[in-house]
Amino acid sequence: MDQKHFDTIVIGGGISGAAVFYELARYTDIKNIALLEKYSGAATLNSHGTSNSQTIHCGDIETNYTLEKAKKVKKTADMIVKYGILQNAQNKFMFSHQKLALGVGEAECAYMTNRYEEFKELYPYIKFYTKNEIKKIEPNVVLNEYSSGDRSDEVVAMGVEEGAIYTTVDFGLMSQSLIEQACKQNKNTHVAFNQEVTLIEKKDDVFYVKTADFKEYIAKSIIVDAGAHSLFLAHKMGLGLDKSCFPVAGSFYLAKRKILNGKVYMVQNPKLPFAALHGDPDLLANMNTRFGPTALVIPMLERYHGFKSLPEFFKTLNLDMNVVKICLNLFKDSTIRNYILYNYLFEIPYINKKLFVKDAKKIVPSLKADDIYYAKKFGGVRPQVLDKKAGELILGEASITEIPGIIFNMTPSPGATSCLGNAQRDAKLICQYLGANFNEDLFANELL
Ligand SMILES: Cc1cc2nc3c(=O)[nH]c(=O)nc-3n(C[C@H](O)[C@H](O)[C@H](O)COP(=O)(O)OP(=O)(O)OC[C@H]3O[C@@H](n4cnc5c(N)ncnc54)[C@H](O)[C@@H]3O)c2cc1C
Repeated sequence: MDQKHFDTIVIGGGISGAAVFYELARYTDIKNIALLEKYSGAATLNSHGTSNSQTIHCGDIETNYTLEKAKKVKKTADMIVKYGILQNAQNKFMFSHQKLALGVGEAECAYMTNRYEEFKELYPYIKFYTKNEIKKIEPNVVLNEYSSGDRSDEVVAMGVEEGAIYTTVDFGLMSQSLIEQACKQNKNTHVAFNQEVTLIEKKDDVFYVKTADFKEYIAKSIIVDAGAHSLFLAHKMGLGLDKSCFPVAGSFYLAKRKILNGKVYMVQNPKLPFAALHGDPDLLANMNTRFGPTALVIPMLERYHGFKSLPEFFKTLNLDMNVVKICLNLFKDSTIRNYILYNYLFEIPYINKKLFVKDAKKIVPSLKADDIYYAKKFGGVRPQVLDKKAGELILGEASITEIPGIIFNMTPSPGATSCLGNAQRDAKLICQYLGANFNEDLFANELL
């Protein structure tokens, strides 16, 4: 049996694993670090550019964030931009687009006006836009259904024009950059693709990592950044049993042309755990507008890889009365129930486009079913974690740090934006555990 020994092994080569692999190599004195990834390259799942909305969620236009939450995400979102500038990635994997949070109708316009007042201090670049001002930069938002004049409903927005800040990242390319940079830090870094970890065991303070091709790696510490599979692997170790997972897929619709000049987000329904539908210029589709994502609970831990993760889903779901109660509570609420059921219709050929357009017309009233098409193989899965003890769905990210030396992360949206902040937290924890040092000064100089 082939054996390899490391101080730290990172499992999962998406943006979270790539970020912590980079930070361990660059900002700590840990010498032997490995990254193990199941597929043949970095970021082929949720961190790939076609799987997510490519947005740096810094909290300025995300109306589901309170001011407190916005302060937190801004700090970690700024790290993405600092890293991009450090790597000279402007217009390579990091881009600037105009972006707006749109209020439609009297109530939403009043909400947006108040929100602008509350948030303008934290985001000094943010501007308020009246209907006429929106019309100048995003004409299709104001044009009415028949393209014969302005829409009749009231609209206002808060946002920022192109060039003022960085807004958009191809997180797949950024993952590749992080891994490449990690390997240039004069450490013993080892990157192994096609290495599906099937089991982790701890014996006498040492972790044994087994792969599907019967390799064994040995490490003093482990960080598991394997998306929904993090919880699957934790359960196999008897950890995180108080947690379960609902994989919530998101699909997109692509426009045949550039309908919007930038990102347009809408006001979030506070009852719904997922971001409201938005329109974004797609970096991988010639900047044509991509609308979405939808939100679809699926019985699989990953998309577009057949049914292999179906049994893994049921193991990770860890079904018991607590999970049933959480489901029943969610379904009791008619807004959530209708939203979940309605989203399935967006996957059914023929009716899906017509229904989707109905919703997207709130952003672009003149949008027609013929203007868009279902973006095949786009979209990913958000591993939404259920806290069985608290009896609730956790809206953001979750980690399991039950035993020293091993961390499991489940990172739904905005996990890509928070990758460098999460990596900082985990790299420090691992340093503490190994008695290693985290170079705070270098980190602060480069990423804060
Ligand atoms: C529709 C949608 C839109 C989104 N939009 C945004 C957005 O605009 N901005 C934002 O910040 N976030 C967004 N997100 C969230 C973001 O995409 C994720 O939070 C992020 O990509 C998670 O990265 P990750 O590295 O944790 O997981 P992943 O990218 O899923 O990577 C996990 C990796 O682990 C590997 N792996 C799994 N099991 C094993 C195993 N057993 N052994 C070895 N390797 C394994 C996988 O192959 C994969 O490469 C969106 C998500 C979705 C689904």
